[in-house]
Amino acid sequence: MEETLSIIKPDGVNKKLIGTILKKFEDNGFEIINIKRLTLTNEQAGEFYSIHKERPFFKELVSFMTSGPCVPFVIKGENAILRVREIMGATDPSEAAEGTIRADYADSIDKNIIHGSDSKESAEIEIPFFFG
Ligand code: ATP
Ligand code: MG
Repeated sequence: MEETLSIIKPDGVNKKLIGTILKKFEDNGFEIINIKRLTLTNEQAGEFYSIHKERPFFKELVSFMTSGPCVPFVIKGENAILRVREIMGATDPSEAAEGTIRADYADSIDKNIIHGSDSKESAEIEIPFFFG
């Protein structure tokens, strides 16, 4: 059993995909064990994505992530970290496999609907970031 942190990003909330996305994980056998809705501050978004702070897209990423409410949630299940990433699809929706969340709903690499922790180490930092 693993726990991982996912976020329905502001574009996903704006497109009214909260229910669709949560159902997809539940239908795949996962449990949603914590959830909230909030609008990130610049400081919070910058800290959350601090590994990308030297990248050219960092400023836009922070601006997008603070542009409206997002929905962080904790997913629990077998092999959750990897499987959640598979269900999300590739970062760039044009490269995401058919039937994945990003392939079905995302507009572009910078507006890609959903986040998922990329490793056990990330999950262990990201879950307490939102759910202390
Ligand atoms: P996330 O961390 O949001 O789950 P990811 O792990 O698939 O996404 P990362 O490499 O961690 O991808 O990038 C974090 C976010 O930064 C991406 O989701 C995307 O919104 C944005 N991003 C990544 N690469 C680019 C890029 N080349 N151009 C614009 N935005 C990008
Ligand atoms: Mg990432």
